[in-house]
Amino acid sequence: NCATLGGFIAHRGTGVLSTRYGKIEDMIMSMEVVTPTGEIINTLPVPRHASGPDLAQVFLGSEGTLGVVTKATMKIHPQPAVRKFHAYLFSDLHSGMVAGEKLMAKRLQPSVIRLYDHASTISIIKRVLGIERKGAYLVFGFDGEEDIVDLQMKKAVAICEETAVEDLGTEGGQTWWDQRYKFYYPPYTFQMPQAFGTLDTVATFANIENVYWAMKEAVNKHCPEANYIGHFSHWYDWGCMLYARFIIEKPPQDAAVAVALYNRIWDAAIRAAIKNGGVINEHHGVGLKLGRIMRDLYGPAFNVLEGIKKTLDPNNIMNPGKMGFQGV
Ligand SMILES: Cc1cc2nc3c(=O)[nH]c(=O)nc-3n(C[C@H](O)[C@H](O)[C@H](O)COP(=O)(O)OP(=O)(O)OC[C@H]3O[C@@H](n4cnc5c(N)ncnc54)[C@H](O)[C@@H]3O)c2cc1C
Repeated sequence: NCATLGGFIAHRGTGVLSTRYGKIEDMIMSMEVVTPTGEIINTLPVPRHASGPDLAQVFLGSEGTLGVVTKATMKIHPQPAVRKFHAYLFSDLHSGMVAGEKLMAKRLQPSVIRLYDHASTISIIKRVLGIERKGAYLVFGFDGEEDIVDLQMKKAVAICEETAVEDLGTEGGQTWWDQRYKFYYPPYTFQMPQAFGTLDTVATFANIENVYWAMKEAVNKHCPEANYIGHFSHWYDWGCMLYARFIIEKPPQDAAVAVALYNRIWDAAIRAAIKNGGVINEHHGVGLKLGRIMRDLYGPAFNVLEGIKKTLDPNNIMNPGKMGFQGV
């Protein structure tokens, strides 16, 4: 159940409160890396400088293909004096998204925002949190000194009050925080014989809703009986991450047929996301499975990544095949 620091650095991991504290790449000061040819190198001791490109960013997210991270110096954040939450119900995804975007555009610095689509609200939010509503459930929170948090909260509440259909209060938000891990454990997570895929995608506010709908259309085209649900986590001042899922209640009995269907859905959904401005992905990484998409995602710029791989790992000994680096 525990990710390592090396694993987090290697795939650009993130946590629940990323909207305030950033992803792992925002928390790193410097790192030591052993390159595939055996050299021990260090990135510069500070993460902001004007001494050329930031070498640390080359190794962040490289998924063990460019070297082994053997040391890292990290920033740590003080414990906040208070941590507060609030939740609202919106009539639909779009109005919830507009409110979330406003929270970010106003630079209110929430610690977290999560917006659940209608399909998630009527299923997982009801089952895990016991909040039985139709629409789009939105929760947000703030961390810090109490007087500042109260002011941020007041401004955020005012934004949501403009368009929300129901104020679920601090209780409706706190319960999400208290039960946030439950979503990933039985009996709330998936059970055999269900099949599911997590389509982690990130896009600007201008594109993110189109990405959501395009992926839904792709999933339903390839598997009309699949359910498609999504929530929006990890918000930035330019956009947010879409954690979409397709769920097949009764996949084909024949394993080969089931895997082929699974891969077909995944492929179509990811390509639909990219076509609409989405990027795979925000924090789960590329690995072996999504490597085939990398060239399409990057276009000619992928040659630059391959060039870095060839230079650092001329014998292709580090995680060959990962991230789409084939036969380098
Ligand atoms: C249900 C579920 C929820 C998840 N939620 C999140 C989430 O909220 N946030 C998130 O970020 N991820 C999430 N993930 C993804 C997963 O947790 C992480 O990818 C994983 O934990 C990474 O850490 P690890 O130590 O397990 O890495 P591993 O799986 O062991 O390795 C990941 C990659 O990094 C490479 N690597 C590992 N250590 C090093 C090193 N020292 N130097 C160089 N390369 C290295 C490995 O070779 C491999 O390619 C989730 C996964 C699941 C199944």
